[in-house]
Amino acid sequence: MAGIGIVGAGIGGLASAALLARAGHGVTVFDRFEAPRAVGSGLIIQPVGQAVLDLAGAGAAVRALGARIERMVGHEVRHGRCVLDVRYARRGSDSHGLGIHRASLFAALLAAVTAAGAQLRSGAGVLASADSPGGRTLTLASGEVAGPFDLVLDASGVHSPLSPLRGRGLAFGALWATVPWPACDLPKDRLTQRYRRADRMAGILPLGTLPGDATPLAAVFWSLRAADLDRWHQTPLAAWKAEAMAFWPEIGAFLDPIRDPADLSFATYSHGTLRRPFAPRLAILGDAAHRTSPQLGQGANMALLDAAALAQAVATHGPADAPAEYARLRRWHVRAYQAMSAAFTPQYQSDGWLHPTLRDRLFAPLSRVAPVPLLLNRIACGDLIPPIRGAPRQVRTGRSAAAQLRFSQPQTSEITTLPSPTAEATRLTDPARTSPTA
Ligand SMILES: Cc1cc2nc3c(=O)[nH]c(=O)nc-3n(C[C@H](O)[C@H](O)[C@H](O)COP(=O)(O)OP(=O)(O)OC[C@H]3O[C@@H](n4cnc5c(N)ncnc54)[C@H](O)[C@@H]3O)c2cc1C
Repeated sequence: MAGIGIVGAGIGGLASAALLARAGHGVTVFDRFEAPRAVGSGLIIQPVGQAVLDLAGAGAAVRALGARIERMVGHEVRHGRCVLDVRYARRGSDSHGLGIHRASLFAALLAAVTAAGAQLRSGAGVLASADSPGGRTLTLASGEVAGPFDLVLDASGVHSPLSPLRGRGLAFGALWATVPWPACDLPKDRLTQRYRRADRMAGILPLGTLPGDATPLAAVFWSLRAADLDRWHQTPLAAWKAEAMAFWPEIGAFLDPIRDPADLSFATYSHGTLRRPFAPRLAILGDAAHRTSPQLGQGANMALLDAAALAQAVATHGPADAPAEYARLRRWHVRAYQAMSAAFTPQYQSDGWLHPTLRDRLFAPLSRVAPVPLLLNRIACGDLIPPIRGAPRQVRTGRSAAAQLRFSQPQTSEITTLPSPTAEATRLTDPARTSPTA
């Protein structure tokens, strides 16, 4: 067998499969799950990630299900001041984030993969991979040896059996739940967060809807030290809800539907970056290659950008030389965003006073002075530096194909083109199961 084998049917694996199959390659995706599924709550797809979804054929479906996010806003509860306000709007573009449930993103990507003709093998956990002159093989948990393949992509997330990356565990993780959006005054067009110093944080993210169900959803999250998880379990749920509502009264309506600790998932975060995310006929992408906390909201986007870079590398260099080229295309963007994520995380999740004081007294006032708002906009959109060298314009600018078509019309020609941030989640009911989802 020749063609391309992909380990992991998560965000990066499915996007790679759709892009490569659309380019005419024979693609087989292996995942350990028994039936196609996504575990966990939701995330924000940034403009660059949306552009990759367009290229993969999943953009329209994701937009139909997701919630449009215009801003990310955070207040410190002790003094009530706004200490985070990042706007997606940019002159001449309709940049926005998309809050989406993982199951909706998964369904859209899976449909794109199926339409493109890639094969998906479930119940096919991969244990190891070996390269030989005939190609690269995969050893499955069943004992079967699959392949050889011209190229293998490792997109199996934080628990990759093929990646040498071992992340540095972060002290703080978060409890996450998906709930119906309640009747309340909270604006539906933004990620809203509350902080007390950096040792307490809660947030609410609109998620749009699930396929076939028009109920608007929200992700609600509560920052927690991993070391405090056992104590949280011993605390009655009602006492935790009372504590949360004393911290942020408006969160109460979102906590109402949570009746059991098992309604929440605890996500632990780690940080690490592979310096060399490739080997002969093997490219490592997504969380298997670089992982961080979700504070910058870039992990899924990084996996999507990796997928686009990989597809571009295969197109220009062929499968055998694609891994090194892929790493070259993504190197600086990955390093820059990993460094920014590591720098931002302690401002929102850490003990002590230094980071939150800098956030409130220095960075928050600075963030209102030009050109810092534009800088923050570019960081959030994912295109502070070119995400992929030589990428299609829509990926470089984070603009959807549809928006670019609009820009090419004469009446908008005066609009100048502006050049264009891990985790492991443990289901509380099943401490043995880990997954990089929340
Ligand atoms: C709580 C939380 C919030 C987040 N919020 C955001 C956000 O707002 N924006 C954002 O961009 N990112 C966010 N992220 C990060 C984002 O979820 C990840 O970066 C992204 O899912 C990584 O995609 P991936 O394809 O590398 O891995 P995944 O999507 O995790 O997929 C890995 C796949 O590999 C499979 N697999 C694992 N091991 C094997 C094996 N041995 N054999 C076969 N298959 C295997 C798994 O079953 C899974 O399907 C968040 C993460 C968490 C935990």
